[in-house]
Amino acid sequence: MTKNNTEFDLIDWIRRHRHLPDGDDVITDIGDDMAVVRLGEERVLITTDMLLENVHFNLGGLARAPVATLEQVGYKAMACSLSDCAAMAAVPLVAVVAVALPHTMSMTDARRINAGLQQAARKYHCPLVGGDTTSWDKPLAINVTMLARTGPTDPVLRSGAQKGDVIMVTGVLGGSGRGKHLEFTPRVPEALALAQMAPIHAMIDLSDGLASDLGHICRESGVSAVLKAGAIPISEAAQTGSDPLSAALGEGEDFELLFCVSPEDAINLMHAWPEKFSLPITQIGSITASSGEHLVSLQQREGLIEPLQIKGWEHKFQA
Ligand code: ADP
Ligand code: MG
Repeated sequence: MTKNNTEFDLIDWIRRHRHLPDGDDVITDIGDDMAVVRLGEERVLITTDMLLENVHFNLGGLARAPVATLEQVGYKAMACSLSDCAAMAAVPLVAVVAVALPHTMSMTDARRINAGLQQAARKYHCPLVGGDTTSWDKPLAINVTMLARTGPTDPVLRSGAQKGDVIMVTGVLGGSGRGKHLEFTPRVPEALALAQMAPIHAMIDLSDGLASDLGHICRESGVSAVLKAGAIPISEAAQTGSDPLSAALGEGEDFELLFCVSPEDAINLMHAWPEKFSLPITQIGSITASSGEHLVSLQQREGLIEPLQIKGWEHKFQA
């Protein structure tokens, strides 16, 4: 989960200065939802995500955000990485967790966090096989690292979007801060089914927000994108807010799948998908040739197309 523009700059710097060994063991590294590495004859995928109290969840220290249970925190920690597996159309394999417990927390509290982790582990057949527990006089921090194996196809990267592709999304967007961000459903089976049903050119899970995450696809693919404001599926939670469209575009932590397919495959998917899943999929825009500076534009209902300001994800809980 990227947090702000400083971190974008840092990741760019790391990409330029990273050490890559000779040979072809590292297939996909920094810049996608998971890295893909060769292990003997197999390919293994790996991701890590850290959740911080008062940033990614609120245990009561913040007035504005809903208060999470410790079970929800554990569940969310696993679910973020499971969602990255979905983004690659990969099959979750195992996870390890590192927890920094505040001194004020008891063994019962630690067990409640673990119960949430185990709930997600069971549901997605991804056992927690180890970790590290420390304690300190600071808020709760929890980090999950997850391995996955390849699914029905090669891992789906962010970098394969092509001019003319249709941009599609699962589910409904916006309003996650009202509670969904603690209980979202990683779209693992949906991603595996999509990859089986059609060649998915590019895919990402929506953690930073639609505008920002579509920007990641565009940057990695060397293309631009136009979103149709009237087509974006907005959640009921966002509908009741002051600016539903902005919430759907920028709030983040929807953890739905954003993906690009050819126009023919988009038509086929729209037809075949509802026979398998009740979760909606929606066509929300198209991929265009790279237009340089502005990666993502928004077409208003009246037809006017304007560049969309892409901000890095700045969490809603922060003042
Ligand atoms: P996601 O939201 O899918 O977890 P992020 O936005 O956190 O992805 O990260 C974007 C990319 O940058 C990923 O490929 C991730 O592995 C990489 N990345 C993030 N932070 C670092 C870091 N400190 N060092 C190296 N790579 C990083
Ligand atoms: Mg991701």
